[in-house]
Amino acid sequence: MLSPSPTVTVAEIDALLPQTQCQRCGYADCHDYASAIARGEAEINRCPPGGVATRVGLSMLLQRDLSTFPALADDVDAYAAEHVALIDESRCIGCAKCLPVCPTDAIIGATKRMHTVIADDCTGCELCIIACPVDCIDLAPKRTFASAAHETLAERSEQSSALRAAYNAHKIRFAARAEEGLSAMLVPTANAEALTAESKQKDKKARLAEIMAKAKARQ
Ligand code: SF4
Ligand code: SF4
Ligand code: SF4
Repeated sequence: MLSPSPTVTVAEIDALLPQTQCQRCGYADCHDYASAIARGEAEINRCPPGGVATRVGLSMLLQRDLSTFPALADDVDAYAAEHVALIDESRCIGCAKCLPVCPTDAIIGATKRMHTVIADDCTGCELCIIACPVDCIDLAPKRTFASAAHETLAERSEQSSALRAAYNAHKIRFAARAEEGLSAMLVPTANAEALTAESKQKDKKARLAEIMAKAKARQ
């Protein structure tokens, strides 16, 4: 058990996180991870998109010895910066399962219609890839404002603020939809018969590893 910090706030920790909201740290979003760090329940080395800049920043904030700041935890999945999601529209069944999971609302499409990604708003977080029941989303190399890798926290500051605002707007929008009973999660799949047993059971971790290998090979 790590010691909780009595003086450092969740907001101060959250400010050093990239706001990709990718859940690789094992928490629901960046703010949730920041809260776990503040409570002393999580180490500071679980954020792949944050890179060294976030780990150094958190070490300094928490007054750790910088000479021993930790390497990235080995049980978190890698993150491919400067990649965005690309939907194979010919295979999309319009189930809309990718809409509620996208932290930046970068996907457009209606139920029973094909969906597409607005690349400029996509961070490449891969949450839609995990949610898609027919594996028709892949990662493609593209540098956008939202997917740009940054070496320093200062360089990343504008991007993080914009991503936090986009995520907060997303949460409000989907909470309102859920209240109205219109949550996309609850809309029946357009073409359930198109979901083969194989695609339903495909190990998502293996799928992500495959995508990361392809992304690396393209670099
Ligand atoms: S960006 Fe980092 S802190 Fe935020 S959800 Fe992803 S891994 Fe967790
Ligand atoms: S469209 Fe981009 S930002 Fe949205 S969930 Fe997919 S990878 Fe993440
Ligand atoms: S989850 Fe996949 S199949 Fe469903 S709408 Fe999104 S891209 Fe299309």
